[in-house]
Amino acid sequence: LPDRALRPEGTVVRIGPATIGDGTINVFAGPCAVETREQLFASADAVAQCGVVGLRGGAFKPRTSPYSFQGLRWDGLDLLAEARERTGLPIVTEVVQPDHVERVAATADALQIGARNMQNFSLLTAAGQAGIPVVLKRGFGVTIDETLGAAEYLLNAGNDQVVICERGIRTFETATRFTLDLSAVAVFKQRSHLPVMVDPSHAAGIPSLVEPLTLAAAAVGADALLIDVHIRPEQALCDGKQAMLPTDFAQLMGKLEMLAMGI
Ligand code: PEP
Repeated sequence: LPDRALRPEGTVVRIGPATIGDGTINVFAGPCAVETREQLFASADAVAQCGVVGLRGGAFKPRTSPYSFQGLRWDGLDLLAEARERTGLPIVTEVVQPDHVERVAATADALQIGARNMQNFSLLTAAGQAGIPVVLKRGFGVTIDETLGAAEYLLNAGNDQVVICERGIRTFETATRFTLDLSAVAVFKQRSHLPVMVDPSHAAGIPSLVEPLTLAAAAVGADALLIDVHIRPEQALCDGKQAMLPTDFAQLMGKLEMLAMGI
């Protein structure tokens, strides 16, 4: 396993110019899904103006229902590349099957392995061989040990550029979409040398909770955050209920900066 003892100084993961795991807090934000050029560019411009280090956006969306929007697929990936040209932000996007890895990795700056796929071991092995960083999201029914085991598949395939992402687990609680396991962030930081990201948007499922959970994640030692921002959440084709408006996101970024500066 990626034990801390093997690398006490911790691993620094480089996604574009961002260095994750060096003690700074790195925010990646953008829409849950790439929907249209106009929607992606407006969201990307908005988060870029707020000082994020990277753009998130799903081109391939593994949805609970086969009838839900499944993403723009390769066209979505092309739009993400255009958004990177426009904003200069590196892009993080999900890859859902092993035979897509090479082609997604040719465009993306980091691959995302989603919660529903994080124990797909052939996908992990392929992603580990892709030669670019991987954001590994914890499955919502997966323990900390099992998550570290999944991370080890990536390392074992030759890639130590791995960020573990806590995105909430399933509990008896229904007030939030998932229960953000902040104790897991502290445990991952103590037990493993890999940097840790937190996705408060998918965890909470409610935009008004994203700010307090972001600040809590930063306080508990998260190295990075992954936040859904959409220019028109009410029209979003995927997870609109949890997306923040750019204006609220700008406020959150201000508070996070003050926290980082110890104000
Ligand atoms: C996402 O971040 O786009 C996503 C689908 O999240 P998760 O895999 O954590 O549900």
